[in-house]
Amino acid sequence: MSDNNTSDLVEDVVELFDEDVSIDPEAVEQAIEKFRGEYKIPQDELRPLLVSQFQDKHDIADEELFGDSDPDEFDPISLSEMEEIYETAQANGQNAWVDVIVKFTQAWEPNTDSIQNVGLVADGTGQTKLTVWSNKEFPVLEEGETYRLENVVIEEYQGDLSLSSTPNSTIEVAEESIEDTNTFEGVILELNDTSGLIKRCPEDECSRVVTDGRCSVHGNVEGEFDLRVKAILDNGFDSRTVYLDADLTEEVTGIDLETAEQKAQDALDVSVVRNEMEEMLVGRYLEVTGSMYDNNIFVDEAEFQIGPREEDVDAIEQLA
Ligand SMILES: [Zn+2]
Repeated sequence: MSDNNTSDLVEDVVELFDEDVSIDPEAVEQAIEKFRGEYKIPQDELRPLLVSQFQDKHDIADEELFGDSDPDEFDPISLSEMEEIYETAQANGQNAWVDVIVKFTQAWEPNTDSIQNVGLVADGTGQTKLTVWSNKEFPVLEEGETYRLENVVIEEYQGDLSLSSTPNSTIEVAEESIEDTNTFEGVILELNDTSGLIKRCPEDECSRVVTDGRCSVHGNVEGEFDLRVKAILDNGFDSRTVYLDADLTEEVTGIDLETAEQKAQDALDVSVVRNEMEEMLVGRYLEVTGSMYDNNIFVDEAEFQIGPREEDVDAIEQLA
């Protein structure tokens, strides 16, 4: 450890607390010696420990220490940046305060009165959970509306990041509207059994997939033929279930509804359509754009990307 490092660190910590309390540099030095000497903590891991020790000692909440560093400047991040910002803040022993412009895409039922709104928000680069704690200053969020959230904090629970309001947050309806479509690219891992030529419930506004002549809501129905692909896309880190309607299914497989019905009739089996599509699609790279709910993407646009096809991979493996 160089003395230079230590004096920088001391200065840094003293400065951080400057607005709230005046800390004796010698006390910081002693704390550093103790952490280094007794607990063998490496120099570059000391800062968060020191900060939280002096926070405890002087009873200073995170909000006081980090919350109002730049309260007037609205500087929104993209949701795709959350992880990086959270990790950087963690490494510095700080909370991750951010501003965002997001659409409230899905409202969930709060399980306590102290929560005003909970649900999913999206901004075109990603989506995350948002919790708005009850506060008379905040508007009640409406599904489908876009909001400016200032000074909200990124939280982590079991590896998942989310956003949460605090008393320091500002929430208002945004003037700007945002794209809430998502793009995802990956290899098609598998086709769900309810892909290909399927039947849908004809009841008003239902259109659930009919299996063995039954709709899960309306019971036995005479289903109407439709064409779709429900598939798992995987990029090696993450996966999504993607839904392609009849037009998109035709676009990526070249099979239209009429052709599919003919194939099923010839084979006396509807699953031939799914199986043919599976052979065509599994192993190919697809980029999709659409609305995302949880891990599902309802696709508006789909495009094959250059990537190894399964048969190519097989061929290469046989050569090896
Ligand atoms: Zn139905």
